[in-house]
Amino acid sequence: MSILYLVGTPIGNLEDITYRAVRTLTEADYIFCEDTRVTAKLCQHYQIQTPLKSYHEHNKDKSSEQILKLLEEGKQVALVSDAGCPCISDPGYELVNQARENDYRVETIPGPNAAITALMTSGLPSYKFVFLGFLPRHAKEKNEVLQKWMGRESTSMIYESPYRIKQTVRAIAEIDPERKVAIGRELTKKFEQVETNQIEIIEQMLEDATIPQKGEFVILIEGVDEASQEIHWWEGIDLNQHVETYINEHDMSSKDAIKQVALDRKMKKRDVYESYHVQE
Ligand code: SAM
Repeated sequence: MSILYLVGTPIGNLEDITYRAVRTLTEADYIFCEDTRVTAKLCQHYQIQTPLKSYHEHNKDKSSEQILKLLEEGKQVALVSDAGCPCISDPGYELVNQARENDYRVETIPGPNAAITALMTSGLPSYKFVFLGFLPRHAKEKNEVLQKWMGRESTSMIYESPYRIKQTVRAIAEIDPERKVAIGRELTKKFEQVETNQIEIIEQMLEDATIPQKGEFVILIEGVDEASQEIHWWEGIDLNQHVETYINEHDMSSKDAIKQVALDRKMKKRDVYESYHVQE
């Protein structure tokens, strides 16, 4: 019977793979993967000789057609990503949808996931969480997403690159300098580091390289007690619009407007000032 297997693979430590995953990859007719060089290393380690084929963000439509054809021929196809779970901040769900619509059996062989690994290690509340994946790159959209989810009860989980980690940590601190967060770096690898602390302390640790700006990162943000959260008129607008509303609609000087915004958002005046004047 043709089956599409979604196989979880290690996020760093090669030993983090299940017996079932190794057996499935060994017995499948084909393994579709993001980068054949990455998956070849895993296969070599476990002496898996199944042919590798490419399925990634930029060829996924064409590659899906090929996979559906193989399923039609009665083949067993395994899908993996470079690390962790396929479909989670990685391509795959469209293929799964197509396979299911065509009545093919889809089975997941569970495996490691970076966000869940960080959450379990962090000590932050883990009963309710929201996975945001990678945040938008532009500051304005990034802030909007952060504002929205930081006002919720659940712990927010974010993937971040070493190039943007400082910028994102700053954006979180601007919204709530007292918020507890966790940083998971190089999880399951030799230099694994998980730090849970107030965002301003984490920012300082990044500044003085106690948390080196190297490797792969997960950011977790503790949620808030939603019931105790007032709904503020300025939620949903960005910091600059907030300042300008005071200037234009309340006849305030920019100095007073910045002071009021800092009070509203529990931010430092200097940070509001800088953000406002940089973008002016
Ligand atoms: N599918 C993967 C999963 O299930 O976790 C996620 C793939 S996503 C393209 C890659 C991002 O996941 C990295 O940029 C990083 O944010 C996070 N990540 C993956 N491995 C990690 C690790 N060992 N330590 C920390 N973060 C990791």
